Formats: sequence, structure tokens, C-alpha cells
Amino acid sequence: MEELLRSLPQISKIVNTFRDRAPEHLIKRVARQVLHRYREEIKKGLRKTTDDLFRTIELEIEKARRGSLKRVINATGVIVNTNLGRAPLHEEVIASLQELGHSYSNLEYDLKRGKRGSRNSHVENLLCELTGAQSAFVVNNNAGAVYLVLNSLAYSKEVIVSRGELIEIGGSFRIPDIMRSSGALLKEVGTTNKTHLRDYEEALSQETALVMKVHRSNFYMKGFVEDVSLRELAELAGKVGVPLYYDCGSGLLNRTVARRLPVKEISMEESIAEGADVVSGSGDKLLGGPQAGIILGKKELIDRIKRNPMARALRIDKLTLCTLEATLRLYLEGRFEEIPVINMLLENSKSIRRRARKLTRALSHLKGIRTYVIKDLSSAGGGSLPELELETYCLVLEHHSLPSQKFAELLRESEPPVVGRIKEGKLLLDMRTVRDYEIPLIKSSVEKVLEHFCQPQ
Ligand SMILES: *Cc1c(COP(=O)(O)O)cnc(C)c1O
Repeated sequence: MEELLRSLPQISKIVNTFRDRAPEHLIKRVARQVLHRYREEIKKGLRKTTDDLFRTIELEIEKARRGSLKRVINATGVIVNTNLGRAPLHEEVIASLQELGHSYSNLEYDLKRGKRGSRNSHVENLLCELTGAQSAFVVNNNAGAVYLVLNSLAYSKEVIVSRGELIEIGGSFRIPDIMRSSGALLKEVGTTNKTHLRDYEEALSQETALVMKVHRSNFYMKGFVEDVSLRELAELAGKVGVPLYYDCGSGLLNRTVARRLPVKEISMEESIAEGADVVSGSGDKLLGGPQAGIILGKKELIDRIKRNPMARALRIDKLTLCTLEATLRLYLEGRFEEIPVINMLLENSKSIRRRARKLTRALSHLKGIRTYVIKDLSSAGGGSLPELELETYCLVLEHHSLPSQKFAELLRESEPPVVGRIKEGKLLLDMRTVRDYEIPLIKSSVEKVLEHFCQPQ
């Protein structure tokens, strides 16, 4: 053991070795960490050689230089995976970003008149054309949209919401909390499972500023359940002259797309047609674009939202605006099926099976690996289409001496990281959310795991 400890080099020697590969401070930091780890392992009797030290440091330096936020291969089967960044963007959308990103733009400049313009104008007409809305406004995300709608239209006034729709999305977004912080007063009606039209009727008063309906984006209720449709609510709200606001959540854009889905889901366009006066939704769920909050509705109401000083604090950034516009253009050209999120949602299981087989072939020669293909179910995820279960094919990945949990963990830390899911103790790679071009990347990640795992220690 003493001998092994003595064989560890000085930091200065390591710095000299990697001097032209990375800045000195970075080499030093990595070297200290790795040396510490080796020392501990030697003392515990877990390490029998230090021959691989320089290789380990080299790998760690590469890792450190790649930065923290990086591409990940989503083999979870959850399409709108919030933890993995929700919607991947279409390549043409990225091409527009490429051009706009490193130049100046007419973000807030009217080129024709040579005067100040509005950033919202680049998408407002597109959104109106695609959904039939009178006006549109975009902000940073849908949570911001909900806040802004409530703060603009219902500050210190009552908003009527069904108890069955007081939802929580992803831990940090809860309707009652966002309502409180917006200054609107929550007026709950009905019960968890049943709300009737008369519950809303009885709650309406001089103090009512809005009737709000919230899409149950991440769960569904079965059994003794009843709620009031948008159309019925619109009729009631219209009669008493109170605006109806629908937080649609999923951001499903219009009926053309909705018609192609395997389950019934109301789009933003249909919500407006049903009589909602204001509708909001996310840009990076079923819309398949960048993170954004989309607000659509009657001109007079949207104007009030635009004038709210908080709109500035929630405003959309130019890179997002660029990718949102480019995504909406794909809709306008009737090419929505190419948008990655929608494409994955609509892909049939046969072509998914084909991809699974391709991956099997790619991995077949690797030592110690066994793979086979099974049928399973994947989901839309991320606050969209909660009841939808999509038939899919997964690759089961096994190694003769690596437990599945450990294999999954090493794959997550490989390069590029691959995130699968564990089911009944097996490591599954769901091919619905993997693209063909990612197959060689998965192969290289698996190879790196094997290389690392089989290293002499
Ligand atoms: C997802 C969702 C939100 C929050 O949207 P973000 O884009 O995550 O900010 C709000 N309301 C509903 C109904 C949702 O589904």
C-alpha cells in the first residue's frame, strides 16, 4: 500500500503533462480530486494499481471542459420530458437561431418606418392566423402567462375556479400559490371530483373578475366525476359579462393537430372557438417549440395584459422569439408533423421496432452485453395528454456482471449521457424518444461504460 501511495505523482508533474490541453487552474482542480480519490481507494484496499491515473485525469479534464449543460439521449419514452428539457427543436428552427444569434436583428425596430417596433409583433399575427384569436402576446413561460393574466385582469378581485382543477405541475407551480402571488383572490367552487354549473352560478358576484378553467395536464380522474365544459362556462360568463380564462397548459395549437392525435385533447384554437376569452399555454409542450408562455384572446383583454408593467419583467428573449416564430412557420406551412415532439407522438410502433432492431445490431458485437427487444408503453409526459399510453418498443440492455441499476447509472454518466428507465429490475431503452442518428451515439456511450467498467483496478 505504501508503495502504491508513493507511486502517485506530484501535481506539478500532472500540470506539465496536460499544460497545452487546459488552463492550469482546471488541471490542478481535477488532479487534486483524482489524487484524493486514488489515495482513499488505495487506503481502503480497493485499488491495486495507479497505472491508469493519467488516463483518468485526461478523461476528467475533458469532462470538465465540456461544461455542465449538455445534450442527453432521452431513452425514457417520455416525450415532453421536463427534466430533460421538454421539446427538442426542428433543425430548420435551429438554423434560424444560428443566423439570428450572432447578428443584430429587427427585434424592436420597424424597418419600414425606421422607428421603434414591438418584439411581440413577430409572432402575434402568426398566432392569430393559426388559432383564430383576435390578439396574442408571448412571455417567458406559461407559469408567467398565468401570473400575468391573473395580475392584469383580476388584481384584488375574485377568480372562480373548480376545486377539481387546483392543480400542481412539477412541484413548484400550484394554481392557488400563483393566484395568491398575482394578487387575485381564489374563489373555489365544487368538490374534488364534481363541480356543477350551479356552483359557478352561485359564486358569481360583484367581486368576480374572471371565471377560470384549468386543464388537468398531468393526471386524469375516473369514476364519479363531473365538470363543466368550456362551452357551458362561456355561456354563463358571457351572460353576466365576466371574461372566461382557460389555462390550456399543453399548448396544443389548433384543431388540425388535435385531429391527428390518438386521444381527444382540446387545442388553443378550439378553446377560443368554444368561447374562452383568454387562453394560455406552454411553448415547449405539445406545441413543440421553445420555452414560452402563449396568451391568446380578445383584443381588449390582451391589450390590458400588454400594458401591465410586469409584462416587461416576463418578456420573451430574442433567441426564444426567433425559435418560436420558426416553429410557428412550420405550422403555417402545414409541416407540423415534422416537429420533433409531434413526430415522436405520431410515430407508429412498427418504425419504432425497426429502430430498436437497428440498435440491437449496433450493440451486438460488444463483449458481455445481451440485448433483446420488448413491447411496452411510453407516455407524452410533461403536463400533456395524461391518459395517453403509446405502444412502443424498448431495448432491454443487460451485462453479464453489471447489475441493471449500476448499468443505468454508468450510462447516465457516460458521454453522451443516455437516460433509460428501469422496469421490473431491467434496464429499458425506449426507442420512441430516440432518433436514428442517435444510435451510433448510444453505441459509443455503451462502449465507454464497458471500457471504464472493465478497467483494471
Ligand atoms: C405546464 C402547465 C403550466 C406551467 O407551464 P410552464 O410552461 O411549465 O411554465 C401551467 N398550467 C398548466 C395547466 C400546465 O399544464
